[in-house]
Amino acid sequence: MNQAEIQAGEPGAPLVIAIHGGAGTIEKGEFSEQKELDLRRTLEQAVLAGHAVLKEGGSSLDAVTRAVTLLEDSPFFNAAKGAVFNAEGKNELDASIMEGASLEAGAVAAVKNIRNPILLARRVMTDSAHVMLMGDGAERFARDHGLQFEDDGYFFTEYRWQQLQKARAAGGDTTWLSETPDQWFSTVGAVALDAQGNLAAATSTGGMTNKRWGRVGDSPIIGAGTYADNRSCAVSATGHGEYFIRATVARDICARVQYTGADLAAAADQVVNRQLVEMGGSGGIIAVDPAGNIALTFNTPGMYRASVDSLGNVYVAIYGDE
Ligand code: ASP
Repeated sequence: MNQAEIQAGEPGAPLVIAIHGGAGTIEKGEFSEQKELDLRRTLEQAVLAGHAVLKEGGSSLDAVTRAVTLLEDSPFFNAAKGAVFNAEGKNELDASIMEGASLEAGAVAAVKNIRNPILLARRVMTDSAHVMLMGDGAERFARDHGLQFEDDGYFFTEYRWQQLQKARAAGGDTTWLSETPDQWFSTVGAVALDAQGNLAAATSTGGMTNKRWGRVGDSPIIGAGTYADNRSCAVSATGHGEYFIRATVARDICARVQYTGADLAAAADQVVNRQLVEMGGSGGIIAVDPAGNIALTFNTPGMYRASVDSLGNVYVAIYGDE
């Protein structure tokens, strides 16, 4: 019997996870060799940690939570520690999570000083009657539920601070520094398929450098930056959020799979390389379907990404041609 014929819940059912750490434009050689190694190692550790959860019989929800928490804890990516700064010089964080079996979802927007926004999004899903909480209300909910807070210094990185100075120098409302090769959408995300055949997706971000106070991107918006439905697929996105919101990227990919019978790769390609490109939106997605197919699709020169497929093959990549 081949892998695809093994049913969910049976021994040998496909276990799959994919993660991203953002999409964007970067030249080879832009990083030091050491930094590139560290980035790849961080991606590999996160994807393997998520996969270990699946192998131990854990749920896809636990697997994506684990992987995203590790990426949030890394200073390399624009999520929690190492998040970008808004125009006021603050880190305002967005995150969301969704479970494909129940279609339950949780999200937080514009929260400050939360060590792991993805854990807060998950608590909103499991411990509140709501899907999304924002700002002060979300922070009070976090306090009431014992989430860990950190002071501003925990989130600070010199690299992100310098990005803000460049954006300020460019003037106006510039959030998108198309002139600078180091502009990456370094949001993090994960999608997974567990032994029960359940899908889940999670996304966490600091948003975009120099964003206005109170700006919310696609990452915490269910259907834009994150979506999971066992009948189609699980998707986590990264890119220029305003476009991803308007194109309802994550839901559109799932809807194409569900209603048109498109395979995952074709649906992702249509949305990322056609729909978004026509609108002028840069970025990418990771996705997995109930059969264990993976899509890592981006319209930028590169995307930080990693996956473990149903055969256990581990893949880690940054540039477009790997
Ligand atoms: N999508 C995120 C946002 O617009 C940015 C990113 O992917 O890095 O907030």
